[in-house]
Amino acid sequence: MTSSYLRGDDLVAPARIHADRAARTLLVEWADGHRSTFEFEQLRWLCPCAYCRGEAGLPGWLDTSPVLSAEQTRLVSIEPVGGYAIAPTWGDGHHTGYYTYTALRAHCPCPSCAAARAAAGHPETPSARG
Ligand SMILES: [Zn+2]
Ligand SMILES: [Zn+2]
Repeated sequence: MTSSYLRGDDLVAPARIHADRAARTLLVEWADGHRSTFEFEQLRWLCPCAYCRGEAGLPGWLDTSPVLSAEQTRLVSIEPVGGYAIAPTWGDGHHTGYYTYTALRAHCPCPSCAAARAAAGHPETPSARG
């Protein structure tokens, strides 16, 4: 798939997504060759749904710093959503989080992206919240 429309800096899309259930990691290979490896637990903490994140100023479930069970961090399947996101289904049945490609790329855990975020003054890790 040659894709001239992918040239814009604001548009990210994965070339390949691979879930390794033995290693409990999700590998996202981006169209520009960059690779992001998310641990399942890390991915679960990024769930952007209203239940996990809260809405209308109310804290979400993840804001209560829950201890995640093995089932809650077990990736069962991943469905693509409208060409802009993926929706993972977790072992506890949770499946309402739409992880946009933009958000996944923004949270890329690799050292160079983490360093770039730190340099930009946008720490994304919970430990940096204060
Ligand atoms: Zn959620
Ligand atoms: Zn990265």
